[in-house]
Amino acid sequence: MSDSHAQAVAQLERVAAVLSPGYKEPARFLAAIDQLKQPDQVLETELTISMDDGSEQTFTAYRSQHNNARGPYKGGIRFHPQVSLAEVKALSTWMTWKCAVTGIPYGGSKGGIIVDPKELSEAEIQRLSRAYAAWLAPYIGPWIDVPAPDVNTNGQVMAWMVDEYQQTQLENGTLAENPGATFTGKPLELGGSQGREEATGLGGFYVLESLFEEIKKEHGWKQKSDVTIAVQGFGNVGYWFIHHVVLAGYKVVAISDSRGGVVVEAGIDPAKALETKKESGAVAHYGGRQISNEELLTLDVDVLVPAALESVITADNAGEIKAAVVLELANGPTTPEADAILHENGVLMIPDVLANAGGVSTSYFEWVQNLHGYYWTHQEVLAKLEPLMKDAFAAFWKILQDESVDGRMAAYSMAVKRVVDTMLIRGSV
Ligand code: NAD
Repeated sequence: MSDSHAQAVAQLERVAAVLSPGYKEPARFLAAIDQLKQPDQVLETELTISMDDGSEQTFTAYRSQHNNARGPYKGGIRFHPQVSLAEVKALSTWMTWKCAVTGIPYGGSKGGIIVDPKELSEAEIQRLSRAYAAWLAPYIGPWIDVPAPDVNTNGQVMAWMVDEYQQTQLENGTLAENPGATFTGKPLELGGSQGREEATGLGGFYVLESLFEEIKKEHGWKQKSDVTIAVQGFGNVGYWFIHHVVLAGYKVVAISDSRGGVVVEAGIDPAKALETKKESGAVAHYGGRQISNEELLTLDVDVLVPAALESVITADNAGEIKAAVVLELANGPTTPEADAILHENGVLMIPDVLANAGGVSTSYFEWVQNLHGYYWTHQEVLAKLEPLMKDAFAAFWKILQDESVDGRMAAYSMAVKRVVDTMLIRGSV
């Protein structure tokens, strides 16, 4: 498969083939599907900033706004050397599906800058973040497009962006809405939500809990400690997922980051792994058998959790996967060719749009709190997130049982149907 956007389109075509018999007006259905193959709008620019040594450097930046039938565009901003036009288009498409899967009132978008932030100082990252926000200011807003953090961006980056956005709007005389509600994933001081930092990993944990209840008999899982888990990626998402699953009693036996991984049969302690990462820069120094990221994917575990980058499970390695379940916490970690192989081999796929939807759902809670100016406790946020994720899982599971589709198709068909139905009700196609 040539690129990640081609993957997203191929997935949509498979879903359309499943859904189309259910529509009485095939021409309008196909018009909606055609529209969903491309984003509504893709913005691209070159951002030039001053570097600390007085020189200037230029970076390519994108924002892809895929679909807003169900609500404002919503999606993160990624800083990474491998960001590309195809990638942001694909990620914005997946955001549309993800928001629809959990039923939150958003469409999908995504942004990114081609940059290796490890090569920039903090001051340079701040200047780049501000340049991006100033460029994007006319195209975003609480009811237009609501950005958030993604790979290599965080609450601090959102704080700089909110500040720049607010200043730009003030200078242009266009500050109409609460500027804080234009970005989510903000620090608490700026109107961030309790629980947002851990939300994606925690949402993945709630999905695992629902899954455990459904399949424990079938897989001989008497208790949670019978379930072995390998997690690729020990960033925000990977860490919080591991934190919650280990707390609940599951056994995480392998972890990795960009520098490689480690297997510990007795189980990994997330606090010690975090300490190792902080002190040595790599979780591979945890102590245990060191492995490559490729080997981690093919370990004999119950649940494999890709939580780093996309397209890591491909036609080349899908046949080697021994896990019974793939729980996708990263966005787009499995190619369509690999999906087919996993399905053939009986591997249960819990796709990204469901498994990692805890983040955007808590972003939605943050936005609601910002718009109301009324803030919830950590307990209140978690009490809202748990049923939201478990209800989404239950709807997904029902489709999976009723129809002869794989996990990705079950979640995507649920999402695409909701988006298409909204487009049809609007009469926009
Ligand atoms: P992060 O930057 O905090 O962590 C990324 C992790 O992946 C790091 O441990 C890094 O070392 C590791 N990594 C990088 N390249 C790798 C490689 N080639 N092989 C193995 N590991 C590698 O990012 P994050 O916020 O944890 O996001 C991880 C994934 O989850 C991404 O796909 C992101 O789109 C997705 N996601 C994130 C959120 C969120 O709320 N942060 C929400 C939904 C989905």
